[in-house]
Amino acid sequence: MTTAQLITGISQLLTLRGSGARRGNSLSNLGLVKDGAVLVRDGVIVAAGKRAAVEARAEANRAEKLDVGGRVMLPGFVDSHTHLIHAASRAEEYELKIQGASYEEIARKGGGILNSVKKLRAATAEKLKGRALAALEQFASYGTTTVEAKSGYGLDVASELKILRLQKELNTEQPLEIVSTFLGAHVVPAEFRGKPDGAEKYIALLLKQMLPEIVNEELAEFCDVFCDRGAFTREQSRRILSEAQLHGLTPRLHAEQLSRTGAAALAVELGAASCDHLEQVNAADIRALGKSQTVATLLPGCDFHLGLEKYAPARELIEAGAIVALATDYNPGTSPTVSMPMILSLACSQLRMTPAEAICAATINAAYALRRDERIGSIEAGKRADLAVFEVEDYREIPYYFGMNLCWMTMKSGEIVGMKE
Ligand SMILES: [Zn+2]
Repeated sequence: MTTAQLITGISQLLTLRGSGARRGNSLSNLGLVKDGAVLVRDGVIVAAGKRAAVEARAEANRAEKLDVGGRVMLPGFVDSHTHLIHAASRAEEYELKIQGASYEEIARKGGGILNSVKKLRAATAEKLKGRALAALEQFASYGTTTVEAKSGYGLDVASELKILRLQKELNTEQPLEIVSTFLGAHVVPAEFRGKPDGAEKYIALLLKQMLPEIVNEELAEFCDVFCDRGAFTREQSRRILSEAQLHGLTPRLHAEQLSRTGAAALAVELGAASCDHLEQVNAADIRALGKSQTVATLLPGCDFHLGLEKYAPARELIEAGAIVALATDYNPGTSPTVSMPMILSLACSQLRMTPAEAICAATINAAYALRRDERIGSIEAGKRADLAVFEVEDYREIPYYFGMNLCWMTMKSGEIVGMKE
């Protein structure tokens, strides 16, 4: 038996119709419909638009009715950059940072990513899963319906596989969609440091042992590298991603965060799905991204949490025509948040993006960054019914109120996965 749902009472329906990535002025086009309605069948949108037009369809009569009481609806957020699976917070380092220690100083003392690696290796799969499930419920409560998740706190064969297998399980056992990325090249693990050719030996392990097993078990769709000072060089990144590409994984990159390494240009050259961070890009990088299909994913939560003054040049990227996306970068070291509405607030106040641009960047453009813009990221016939309803009168109030959760209901494929009491 098919079940149809008719959702009405939508004061502002942000359809973001007209699929595909948005650049320049089109980033401001939300396809806003006043007094909208959405008809859903078997988790897929059948019709979306003016209430009268949707209600006129024969199927609307027989459908189960849901009135959202004059609230604002937009596509569920697509969080295209997270480090979902980790064992614990790093609140102790947060305090050190506030007292003046830099991110890299903390890393040199065995803190930072290596601290999370130590904790993850010691944690059971069961404990990691419980923590991830709790986080996913939180993601849903803030309006997110799709979450990209990276490995990268394991950095040995068993631990990387432990993370990626968990992500695969979580994808089938809970309602949000998890998109897996292999980030074995996050940093060189402690046991390879200080040895001659340590980094090269670790890369050999990554390419000869981790990658074939991941491909064999179909554990990841993307391969990512942290190309930066203290992590991997541009040449190492090129080798890792080229090899991953031969195995059918699509590249993406952590690029130009702490220093400019040429990672953004490499991302464009390799046809990467996205390059993320971009605080240190130069004019040539911006021009190259403006002409490419590689998404420029901005992660302002990181700069905010670390108290950095230099945010990514969002306006220049938009003016150059780059496909700009926004993500939380949920991780225990630099961006401990699952809140996409908070990221929208930061995008508006710090990156000078308008509320409409920020919403496009967190929905349709993020879906494009995950190569899923044909299925998610907008509210149009044929797409999954991934919907977020906010307790506001005007969509601009979503970023305007910050640090508050005004998400009233979240739906994944037509199923309610988050609801305010
Ligand atoms: Zn990251």
